[in-house]
Parts: sequence; C-alpha cells; structure tokens
Amino acid sequence: MENKEIELIGDNHLSSNIETPLRPDAFEKSDEEKIQNIEGHFAKIMEELGLDLTDSSLSGTPYRFAKMYVKELFYGLDPKNKPRMSTFENKYGYHKMLIEQNITLNSSCEHHFLPIVGHAHIGYIPKDKVVGLSKINRLVDYYAHRPQVQERLCSQILNDLQQLLGTDDVIVVVNAQHLCVSSRGIKDQNSSTVSIEYGGRFEDITYRNEFFTSLKK
Ligand SMILES: [Zn+2]
Repeated sequence: MENKEIELIGDNHLSSNIETPLRPDAFEKSDEEKIQNIEGHFAKIMEELGLDLTDSSLSGTPYRFAKMYVKELFYGLDPKNKPRMSTFENKYGYHKMLIEQNITLNSSCEHHFLPIVGHAHIGYIPKDKVVGLSKINRLVDYYAHRPQVQERLCSQILNDLQQLLGTDDVIVVVNAQHLCVSSRGIKDQNSSTVSIEYGGRFEDITYRNEFFTSLKK
C-alpha cells in the first residue's frame, strides 16, 4: 500500500472483517520474548526522534512501553487471556430485557495506536442461560484491549455474547471518543462515535426503543 492510500484509510477507520487480522504465528513467542523485542524496536524509534536514552528519565521508557503493550493495552489479542464466561441456568424464568450500561471502555485505534475511551451498553433477552453481569464487563474489556476499529469491537462483543447466551437477542452500543480525532488531525474535542450492533428481536424497533429508553434513566 502506498503512503498516500494509508493516510486516507487512517482517518476513515475502515474495517473489513469481524476477526482481528492476526498473523498465523501470532502466539509462537512468549510474552517475555515479545517484550524484549519491542523494547529494542521502541528504543530505535526514540533514538530516531533524537531522544537521548542515556538520560535517567528516558532510559526505562522502552521497557515500560513494551510491557504496557504486551501485558496491558493489548492483552486482549491473546485468546489465553479471554475471561472465563460461565453461564447459569435461567432458573427464575426471566425473559425480559437485561441491561448492563455504562461499562467503561478503554481501547486503542488500530490506525493510529491512540486511545479510544468511552462506554459500552449491552442488553439481552435471556433464553435458557444467563451470565454474571460483571462477566459482560470483562468481555468488553478483553475485546477492547487490542488494536481496534470501533465497529469491529461492537461486532466481536455481540457475536461472543450471542454464542455464549444461546440467543440472537443481544444489542451492543459503544459510544466513544477517539484521541486520533480529538488530539490530532481535525482536533475535535467534542465529537464522539456511536456504533450499534444487534440481532434477533432487537431487529424490531420496539425492543430497540425499550433498550434506549431504559438507558436514559
Ligand atoms: Zn485512529
């Protein structure tokens, strides 16, 4: 891809597939090996920018950066870090809408590697299975901690919950600010991006309305 084309795509945040594009050898190296390699690469970037890595304030940065990437910001790339999502039998026979709202969302845009910060709101109509509500927060956190495109993040959470809960009746809304929009480029501090994905009964506007009305309260 030519640089001009890359710049165009960068600001449009295209997403082509629901799967995060991973190399086949993505998890052959250990985290420790990755941290060591990224530390070296990032030191080179800092040097290229003209920074003096012998300065005591900067000397630890390449290691801190590498560890933060592998263990924190992008821990959600590795399937071994996926939260265990145990479900329970829907013993109470509750078949109305369940909503988990204002789930804190911290992610990174894959085109600029800058933060995406906001909230996710999730609703579902239980069939035979229910899930502990905090598990939904953990699942959001897991998928958010990869280089992401907001629409894909939404779809990944939706798909996972539909499979887990054994129902298509799930809705996922993400409302987030992209630092690549607020701190660079157009530098718009006030705009946010809303993405909505749903299936099953949420295709019906009545259910979506009930969901959005409950969110406002
Ligand atoms: Zn971006």
